[in-house]
Amino acid sequence: MADNKLYDLLGVPRTASDSEIKRQYRKLAKEYHPDKNPAAGDKFKEISFAYEILSDPKKRDIYDKFGLKGLQEGGGDGGFGNFGEDIFSTFFGGGASPFGGLFGGFGGMRGGRRGPRKGDSTVHRLKVSLEDLYNGKTSKLQLSKNVICTECQGVGGRAGALQTCHTCNGRGIKVTIQQLGPGMVQQMQSRCPDCNGEGESMNERDKCRVCRGRKVTQQTKLLEVNIDKGMRDEQRITFRGEGDQMPGVEPGDVIIVLQEKAHDCFRREGIDLFMKHSVTLTEALCGFTMIIPHLDGRNLVINNPPGKILEPGCIRTVVGEGMPNYKNPFEKGDLNIKFDVTFPEKYFANEQKLKELEVLLGGRGPSAPLSKDVEEVDMQDYEPGQDKNHDDDDDSPHMGPHVQCAHQ
Ligand SMILES: [Zn+2]
Ligand SMILES: [Zn+2]
Repeated sequence: MADNKLYDLLGVPRTASDSEIKRQYRKLAKEYHPDKNPAAGDKFKEISFAYEILSDPKKRDIYDKFGLKGLQEGGGDGGFGNFGEDIFSTFFGGGASPFGGLFGGFGGMRGGRRGPRKGDSTVHRLKVSLEDLYNGKTSKLQLSKNVICTECQGVGGRAGALQTCHTCNGRGIKVTIQQLGPGMVQQMQSRCPDCNGEGESMNERDKCRVCRGRKVTQQTKLLEVNIDKGMRDEQRITFRGEGDQMPGVEPGDVIIVLQEKAHDCFRREGIDLFMKHSVTLTEALCGFTMIIPHLDGRNLVINNPPGKILEPGCIRTVVGEGMPNYKNPFEKGDLNIKFDVTFPEKYFANEQKLKELEVLLGGRGPSAPLSKDVEEVDMQDYEPGQDKNHDDDDDSPHMGPHVQCAHQ
């Protein structure tokens, strides 16, 4: 009556021990993992499903007695969630699962997660300079991680030394029955303390001398992190399966999160760069030459011709000298330069020079006619009071009614 499908899928006999099943599953999961073998299609899902059933003593028991039909009729409390429906439809061919809805009774202990259990990801932050993000770089990162012990292949000890835990009879679960009142009992399940929920244990003297029964050892691993041109702050680089290894668990990922360091000269906004430059009033009026050391070591020379006046706070753009576009590094953003103009000293005492300057600048327009209704007052330097509003990036107060600023 019972079918053999799930055992056949994993390629193990019906009598296989838990650790044999685990080992075989790990081997096949590696082989058919969609990242490595996308052509294998549903094979990976099927293997994972078979393992999910056979690694659970309760579900395996039901399957052994009644086959897939037994599972489908809801004899367990494992929780296949959507996964079960999906996989059943691939088993029996056809789109809509003929067993849709039958899994309600399974309770969803694991919330319908697909595939085998996957370890946690390890996140590392890596500080990178703007130069590195502009030019690209390969950084070497040394990590320490758990790997499956090569001495015992992750069994934890001498072959055959692994024994079914006596406390829980290999179920990994301890059941306690509590009397709540007359005729009322509550059954509680908890992880078996003697085998840590694994259902197996080992004598101290049989334990692997290398890992001391831990099944894993620590190893130092050098990761080469390729920082591509144009990568951004907070961008993640994922190394699949490079996280800690554990027998029966698909290793998690190592995730590198880039952290862009502040730069002395440039500020980055997307693919554009911004910088500030200060010129004198003479330079602003009469032209100048400036040199900008760029992120790739080139020196950019900018000529502002005489007569092309720079007003204080103006922004000029050098097209194509911003950051490289990620994935398309030959395309670059722009470099924007905001100019600050330093004026001469407050008191420009030489009256003769001022007269000359006035003539050179084209004289002044007609002054306002003085009438009898005027009152002469003095101007002083502005001192901000406590009740005045301040802009974050501007010391000047709002003058008059609110004016929309053209921030970009
Ligand atoms: Zn070992
Ligand atoms: Zn136990």
